[in-house]
Amino acid sequence: MKDAPLTRTDALAAWQDFLPRTGDYATKRNHVVIGHPHVSRLSAAMRYRLITEDEVIKDTLMTHRFLKVEKWLQEVCWRRYWKGWLELRPDVWTSWRRRVAELRRNLPPEVLSKADAVAAGQSGVACMDAFAHELIHTGYLHNHARMWWASFWIHAEKLPWELGADFFFRHLLDADPASNTLSWRWVAGLQTPGKTYLVRLSNLEKYLSADQLKQTAGSERIADGVVTPFLQTDYADRSKKSLPAYPVSYTQKNQRCGLWLHADDSSPEIGPLQTLQPVAVAAFNNPSVYQNQYRLSDQRIACLRKVLTDGITRSASHYACPATLIESSDTVVSLSDWAQAQQLQEVVAMAPTVGPIHDLLPKIRQHLNQLGIQLTLIRRESDTHAFALAGAGFFPFWEKMNRHLQATANDQAHFPFFETSHAL
Ligand SMILES: Cc1cc2nc3c(=O)[nH]c(=O)nc-3n(C[C@H](O)[C@H](O)[C@H](O)COP(=O)(O)OP(=O)(O)OC[C@H]3O[C@@H](n4cnc5c(N)ncnc54)[C@H](O)[C@@H]3O)c2cc1C
Repeated sequence: MKDAPLTRTDALAAWQDFLPRTGDYATKRNHVVIGHPHVSRLSAAMRYRLITEDEVIKDTLMTHRFLKVEKWLQEVCWRRYWKGWLELRPDVWTSWRRRVAELRRNLPPEVLSKADAVAAGQSGVACMDAFAHELIHTGYLHNHARMWWASFWIHAEKLPWELGADFFFRHLLDADPASNTLSWRWVAGLQTPGKTYLVRLSNLEKYLSADQLKQTAGSERIADGVVTPFLQTDYADRSKKSLPAYPVSYTQKNQRCGLWLHADDSSPEIGPLQTLQPVAVAAFNNPSVYQNQYRLSDQRIACLRKVLTDGITRSASHYACPATLIESSDTVVSLSDWAQAQQLQEVVAMAPTVGPIHDLLPKIRQHLNQLGIQLTLIRRESDTHAFALAGAGFFPFWEKMNRHLQATANDQAHFPFFETSHAL
């Protein structure tokens, strides 16, 4: 299996390799085949914005007829839909993090031991254990395997969805606060209340290769009809808030500004900050926080370092100024120290989306304020438009996106596809 691309150069090459295959994606994507030739493996690259959804959508529409690639475009848009949905309901993220800590503190030891055993691939159901091993060893699972495994954890093993989602979050290289939390909630029946996703052996038999099906130990536990819904309480406030307003472009001021680069969007130079003139760029890598607070796997930590190193290298060349990856145990303190040392009057960054970096914003703002330094966050225009459409279910969202993409496909001069003049 090819490794997931974790630099922009590798992501662009992997994308060019996969682009011709997006025409077959609809018919092949559900097959979970060793090596995963039918899917792109671009999720980590897209999650950290080494390559943007806009670039992928544009190339797709310029290469294929819309109807041939509709399923592919729809899947790419799921990422943005989940992101937008969570931007509008940030408590769903904070509530999940809170519950993970509470469950670890309060669950009976035998339940925690069982959860640990299932996550270590010791459930006794051979195909599910193989997926747990694949995740731990490679940092990746095919979408269908994620659905089966999450369903197995929740509905067959009767374990809290929050701890399963945490296991994924610690190991997936593409771990994304929105796609991960909300997909787990969907499998649990919380996202679309009452609608659970139940794993069935016949579905695995249809989509796994004969080799993968050879090990049958424990498969009676997932035989069709055996797994029944295990309904869990929703502790989150899922009421819709207004989308935080961020500018979509930046006007250079006559003051010293620095660019803060982070993993939620590691390619500011191909977005609205392309023409920024920073005197310095910095990114902050926090392995001790990743380890102690989030218990991330070693390969996930290495992935984050690689993504930030790549972003810093590109920034140094694009912005022609000093760019540094700062190893730190506290982003808030390190960022303020850096801004002060560089005598900045303004720190500019792409707006982090709901998740660990976003959680730091109030403190970052407060520390910078105390130093008299302004924090300016910019959001891509296409995100602003797409997030605003994510208020309800995916299909109303997709209906509007679909119409817009088809219009764009017929008029390729209009890229990026959500210009203000072109908004929905
Ligand atoms: C329980 C569960 C947890 C998940 N956790 C994550 C996660 O933490 N991070 C993450 O990026 N994805 C997550 N997904 C979504 C999806 O499984 C992965 O994005 C996909 O498998 C990544 O592999 P790929 O790039 O080869 O996908 P491809 O099939 O090649 O899809 C292309 C791109 O479309 C997007 N995409 C495809 N399917 C989905 C989907 N269902 N939801 C959102 N975006 C999608 C991704 O950006 C992906 O790279 C999760 C799904 C489930 C069921």
